[in-house]
Amino acid sequence: MISVEEALAILHENIPAPQIEKLSLSDAHSFSLSEDVFSPEPSPRYTNSAMDGYAVKWSDCKHATKENPVRLRIIGESQAGIPFNKLLKSGAAIRISTGAMVPAGADTIIRVEDTVEQGDCVDILSVRCCGQDIRKEGEEFTEGSLLFSEGTKLGARDLALLAAVGVSQVSVFSPPKVSLLITGTELANPDSATIKPHQIRDSNSIMLTNAVKESGGVITSISNVKDDLDETIELVKEISDQKNSIILCSGGVSVGRHDHVKDAALVAGYRELFWKIKQKPGKPLFVCKKDNTLLFGLPGNPVSAFMCFHNYVRPVLNNLQGNESIQHSMTSVAMERVENKGSRTNFIRVVVEEKANEVTVIKEMEQQGSHMLSSIVHADGYIVLEPGEVLNPGDLIEVFLF
Ligand code: AMP
Ligand code: MG
Repeated sequence: MISVEEALAILHENIPAPQIEKLSLSDAHSFSLSEDVFSPEPSPRYTNSAMDGYAVKWSDCKHATKENPVRLRIIGESQAGIPFNKLLKSGAAIRISTGAMVPAGADTIIRVEDTVEQGDCVDILSVRCCGQDIRKEGEEFTEGSLLFSEGTKLGARDLALLAAVGVSQVSVFSPPKVSLLITGTELANPDSATIKPHQIRDSNSIMLTNAVKESGGVITSISNVKDDLDETIELVKEISDQKNSIILCSGGVSVGRHDHVKDAALVAGYRELFWKIKQKPGKPLFVCKKDNTLLFGLPGNPVSAFMCFHNYVRPVLNNLQGNESIQHSMTSVAMERVENKGSRTNFIRVVVEEKANEVTVIKEMEQQGSHMLSSIVHADGYIVLEPGEVLNPGDLIEVFLF
């Protein structure tokens, strides 16, 4: 049996190569960039006006006041989308709209509010400084500036920036493809009305399907198999042909006579990375690899399956999308004594209670059985206690949140 740290280190060394695709911006929302993106253009692209008003020469109107306005002749207009293409000479002004190109020769904008139009002239009533209300080409960033780093998950604002600088396609990590193989002769469809007394409803399929979704992966297939070695071998081979990054098997990885996932995977050509971790729950976790596919043999007990997914599968899915695994945690105070009397690392599910202006406190879930789904449903997260470790009331502990 290996430790949790050893298992994570082995996994880290064996993460499959990510799949990459090019997408147009309109399809790229929620995908993560597979490379840094640099701007092909400066922003703003051209020097333009920040106000509706007049483009002028500072030297013409620097002394303008309400009492002593400066009169300039209006010789043309620069509209947003229709520039004024001649040179502005001294003594003249050009009408300009917000976003319109500042004409050559102009160095200052006078907003409408600081002017009075007089026929084909304009009186300038005040000016603050040379260059006022001009948005300079490249003042936000220059051509070639880094806009986004690899791994950035694109949202609405990010897509807007890319569109603004003319990036029409982005290279992104494809959502990792995941297949499920659900084993167990005892399993019945959850909605089956005619469930037999000796059957249990398959809750792992829906849990794993949605856990994969929550982590940004896509499920490509879900297969069910009875506890039969030959059938399991056939299915593992079949699923392996689908070129998934991950195959998640549920059940059949312990030492029972009817646990066949490990043998089936080895016959199908997988190389064992590890089997059994010194942890509770989830001791029998089996992980193996073939080509670019990682196969996880998750224990069948739903809580064990979930905790193994959370601690081992989710980081790989994050990594395949260019992100280091994100595990939110918070420091809380223990309300009561908690002890790990066992010989394995214990992931103890806890409830976190918020208290106004105080550090949050944790309470251990009473039911910790790995077959008891309520121990993860009603818990906010878990703490990790090593064998022999004791937590006394008032001690601080890090809580890993679900
Ligand atoms: P196994 O890991 O196959 O030995 O299964 C351990 C326990 O988990 C048994 O009680 C199984 O009935 C239960 N179990 C296995 N697969 C599932 C599943 N898909 N949904 C819910 N419980 C399961
Ligand atoms: Mg089983």
